Amino acid sequence: MPTIPESALTVAYLLAAVLFILSLGGLSRQETARRGNVYGILGMVIAFVATALDPSMQRWDVVLGAIVAGGAIGAFLAARVQMTGMPELVALLHSFVGLAAVLVGMSSYLHPIEAAASPTEHTIHLVEIWIGIAVGAITFTGSVIAWAKLRGTLSGKPLLLPGRHLLNLVLVGATVALAVPFLQAADPQAGLLWVLVMTGLTAVLGMHLVMAIGGADMPVVVSLLNSYSGWAAAAAGFVLSNDLLIVTGALVGSSGAILSIIMCRAMNRSILNVVFGGFGTADGGGGGGEAVDQGEVVETNTETLAAELADAQSVVIVPGYGMAVARAQHGVEDLVDVLRKKGCEVRFAIHPVAGRLPGHMNVLLAEAGVPYDIVLEMDEINEDMPTTDVVLIIGANDIVNPSALDDTSSPIYGMPVIEAWKAKRAVVFKRGMSSGYAGVQNPLFFLERTRMLFGDAKASVDALLAALRS
Ligand code: NDP
Repeated sequence: MPTIPESALTVAYLLAAVLFILSLGGLSRQETARRGNVYGILGMVIAFVATALDPSMQRWDVVLGAIVAGGAIGAFLAARVQMTGMPELVALLHSFVGLAAVLVGMSSYLHPIEAAASPTEHTIHLVEIWIGIAVGAITFTGSVIAWAKLRGTLSGKPLLLPGRHLLNLVLVGATVALAVPFLQAADPQAGLLWVLVMTGLTAVLGMHLVMAIGGADMPVVVSLLNSYSGWAAAAAGFVLSNDLLIVTGALVGSSGAILSIIMCRAMNRSILNVVFGGFGTADGGGGGGEAVDQGEVVETNTETLAAELADAQSVVIVPGYGMAVARAQHGVEDLVDVLRKKGCEVRFAIHPVAGRLPGHMNVLLAEAGVPYDIVLEMDEINEDMPTTDVVLIIGANDIVNPSALDDTSSPIYGMPVIEAWKAKRAVVFKRGMSSGYAGVQNPLFFLERTRMLFGDAKASVDALLAALRS
């Protein structure tokens, strides 16, 4: 296998790092997201080719085999995954990064590639291994729990063990304390026990941290685990003395942390409270909670709604998780077209935690070809609600729940929501009276100005389109 000189490797890594930064910049706006993805792919290809040609690469046959097998599995899964399954897939991918950091740390400890130049360097290397394994194990088990919660295998209800903060503190303290005998161990065989004990403790810590987080706070957990996976990769980069892995890990770690803070602000939560858990006491976790009687709802049908829309001057569409489940986004785009052609102002209101992934709704609407300039953030549109004729709530629930503003006992209390109830008419597209992810009933459904259009969102949107066109 040909190799390239060290200097060319450095230049290639620098170029890849710049492309990754440009990629993150591109991904921050819908208009430039596609370009951002291209930069990311280019950076990854350069990083891969340069690493394969690294003069220190000894077993490229093994690396190539792993890449072909891993790439094939990844391509297979990515081609099959539904948009609604993306959050679980992302959580699973985070867990792989964590597991990789643990394995890199272990193998580097048991089979050091080169001897350290000095005792100080040796100690620093051991500390890097310790931190890499600890962060990796927390990321691995935390992400597996997040995956199970997102797919509804585990309840979204937070596990609130008595003295849970003390338990976390003991686990963190033990992780730090065990580093002392590890660093003093004469050889890898003697230190291995401490590594294994610490891996077990941090694995329990990762599980416990995510188990303690309630339904409505899961969006922050997903972005937090994204951040942890970046730090785990950066730690692996230190262990392997690979500059590009350090830079890439730090980019993912810091952008994930910034996203978590943005999500926390949007949810009106403190990041520390989310990290240490305990919000959200209702049992949710899959959008299928039991109905709670709050009075009578008033049903409507597509003909009546079509007549109301024919008279409407301004319409706001609030998409939610149900639109993703029903894959109704293309029909929604057709609906926008029909309404705009008759002179109605149509805009979308996007809640930061709508769906099951940050940016979930924006991706679906972009895929359906909805123009970006009519897709507004919750804060940009809430003040226009009182002058809006009709709000169409398509498969959304928690993000339009007024109890988030006035019911202190609600697990979503304090979360800003889209104030759909202020519009002249609110129409809710959903299949039945099930609750949303947070597992709570929505008083909006029982208000005088609200109408329920029951049925699968795609079928309802298609029927509405047919009624409007006729
Ligand atoms: P919700 O989960 O609150 O509500 C979705 C609604 O869609 C349900 O009430 C369901 O009712 C309805 N629905 C499901 N399938 C269909 C269908 N085929 N057709 C029509 N309706 C359907 O979603 P929201 O988007 O309003 O809120 C997101 C929630 O998810 C928040 O609680 C958020 O915290 C949480 N979350 C968000 C994440 C993110 O990053 N965005 C990550 C993890 C959790 P019915 O069954 O009666 O039809």
